[in-house]
Amino acid sequence: MSAAAAVKPKVVDAVDRLADDLERLSHQIHAHPELAFREEKAHAWLADFLARHGAVVERGVGGLPTAFRATIPGAAAGPTVAIMAEYDALPGIGHACGHNVIATAGVGAGAALALALGTLPFAGRVQVIGTPAEEGGAGKVRLMEAGVFDGVDAAMMIHGRCGTQVWRPTLGIVKVKAEFFGQAAHASSWPWRGVNALNAVIALFNALDAMRQQIRPDARVHGIITKGGEQANIIPEYTSAEFYLRGTTVAYCQELLRRFTAAAEGAAAATGCRVTVTPDPTVHEPMRANAAMADLFRRNLELIDFPEDPDDGQAGYGSTDCGNVSQRLPTIHPYIRISPDGVPGHSREFAEWARSPLARAGMLAGAKALALTALDLLAAPETLARARQDFVGAEVAAA
Ligand SMILES: [Zn+2]
Ligand SMILES: [Zn+2]
Repeated sequence: MSAAAAVKPKVVDAVDRLADDLERLSHQIHAHPELAFREEKAHAWLADFLARHGAVVERGVGGLPTAFRATIPGAAAGPTVAIMAEYDALPGIGHACGHNVIATAGVGAGAALALALGTLPFAGRVQVIGTPAEEGGAGKVRLMEAGVFDGVDAAMMIHGRCGTQVWRPTLGIVKVKAEFFGQAAHASSWPWRGVNALNAVIALFNALDAMRQQIRPDARVHGIITKGGEQANIIPEYTSAEFYLRGTTVAYCQELLRRFTAAAEGAAAATGCRVTVTPDPTVHEPMRANAAMADLFRRNLELIDFPEDPDDGQAGYGSTDCGNVSQRLPTIHPYIRISPDGVPGHSREFAEWARSPLARAGMLAGAKALALTALDLLAAPETLARARQDFVGAEVAAA
C-alpha cells in the first residue's frame, strides 16, 4: 500500500464527520450572497471554520481583505499543494454559479486533512487559498501578482456543474468597454441639433450581430448597455456598453478585439459620434490541461464511488481566472455534478440546485477528491514531477 493510500480512509472519514457542518456553512453562504471583493461574511465564516479544525489561517492575504490562506503543515519542508476556494455571488441572481459549493468543498478538504492528520505525514504542506472575485474581478490574478501563489507547486479546485467532468476546456476573455459621445438636444423641438449616442451603441450591437456569422464557432461576443441615456425627451449625449470577447486562445481574443474596435469606430462614424474603446488590462487566459493531475483526481473519484459522467456535448464553455493560474503552474479545475443534466449555470434554476441534496453530495465528493489528490501529490515526489512535465508539455503543444 502506498503512503497516501494508508491515510486516505481517515481523511474520507473526516469529511463525512464534517458533512453536516459543511452543508450548513454552504447554505449560510448561499443565503447571504456577496459580490466580488465584498465577501466579508463568507471570508470570516470560512476562515473561522478552517482555524477551528486546526489549520493555521492568515486573513486578508495579497492585499485583498476577503482573501485568506490556511496552511496544513507537513512533516518537513517540501512542496506546496494549493486548494482554491471561491465564494463570490452574481449580481441579481445570487449563488447561480454555486460558489458556495466550491468554497465548502475546498475548505472541507483542508479542514478534513487537519482534523484527520493534524500534521501531514509527508514533506510539504497543503494550503487552502480563499480567492475572492471570480465573477468579474479576476481575484486570482491579483493574488498571483501579490505573490500569494509564489512557491505553490500545484493548484486545484472544483466547480459545480450539471455533470461530473474532470476536464473541460475554458475560454480566454478580453473584456472591453465602448463609450459613445454625441450631443444633447430637445428630442421633439430640436432633434436635428442633437447627435444621438444611443443610435451609435445600437449600431455597434447590430454590427457585432453581423460579425458573429464570421467568427469561429467556439468564440463568443456578448455585452450589455450600461448607460443608454437619461430621459426620453433628451437626445442621449453619452452611452456606454460592456462586452466580453471570448475565444479558445488569447491570440484569437485579441483578433476579436481588433474587429470589435473597427465595428465601434464604424458605429461612431455612421452616427456622427465620437467613440472610446477601453480594453480591460486583465486578460482571462484559457485553462491549460494537466493530464497527470486530472488522472489522479479521476482515480480518487472512483475510489469514493463518485464516477465521472460522459459529457453530453450540449453546452459550450465558460471562462475562469483559474485559467491564469493554470498558465503559471500545474492546475486542475474539475467539474462536479450538483444539478441534473441540462441546467445552465448563471440561471435562477442553478442557484436553487446549489443548495440541494445533489449539491451536498457533490460538495462532499469534491472535498474528498481534492484532499486525496493533494495527498497523492505530496506522498510521492514522482507524482508532482509528472504534473510538472505535463505542464511544460502542454505549453509546447500550445505554442
Ligand atoms: Zn460563474
Ligand atoms: Zn463559477
